[in-house]
Amino acid sequence: MKILIATTNLNKVKELKAILPTALKGEKIEYLTLKDFPGFTQPEETGRTLKANAVLKALAAARFADMPALADDTGLEVDALRGAPGVKSARYAGPDCDTDENNRKLLAALDGLFLGQRTAKFKTVACYAVPSGETVTTEGVIEGFIGFGYRGENGFGYDPLFIVKGTGKTLAEMTEEEKNKISHRKLAFEKIIQEAVYK
Ligand code: IMP
Repeated sequence: MKILIATTNLNKVKELKAILPTALKGEKIEYLTLKDFPGFTQPEETGRTLKANAVLKALAAARFADMPALADDTGLEVDALRGAPGVKSARYAGPDCDTDENNRKLLAALDGLFLGQRTAKFKTVACYAVPSGETVTTEGVIEGFIGFGYRGENGFGYDPLFIVKGTGKTLAEMTEEEKNKISHRKLAFEKIIQEAVYK
């Protein structure tokens, strides 16, 4: 069985390859990535929800490659910011911003708030799509706090700011194995394997 991992984010590809099973029901699964389809252009993330964007990405890739595809859309929801940056997490600091600009904007937005006022959630919506147009989506959420500065060298994106509830560690202070055991992405993809792929 072949499944396309429909993301251009190499950090996500790495995490997903560690999270996803290598075989199901005794059948080996071969994972392809968008590198195997250089002619494919990812659609713009025009959806108003994580779910809409996850479906958009998985379906476009499944149709182009003519094989099942998995994609995710992830957002950081900060309670003190009424759920922002949410679906706009990638472009929080502007249309062409980088990770550091997003992280610095987030720290500035929470300036003066103490830890108990910095609660947040990381949410991943995973989508499995087949070329005929059927889609299944699942959600994975972890809770935590936005720290007061960067901590840790691992992971990517908002990981150095996100302190996982009950651990005292940011996602960037965890090893890859630790993050991939508890992450929003792990929870969403574990469910999608059960609900869509393992059928
Ligand atoms: P997207 O799902 O690729 O649209 O990512 C949305 C934003 O969240 C980007 O700024 C990513 O860097 C960030 N992001 C996605 N997944 C993670 C994660 O697991 N940890 C930290 N940041 C993430």
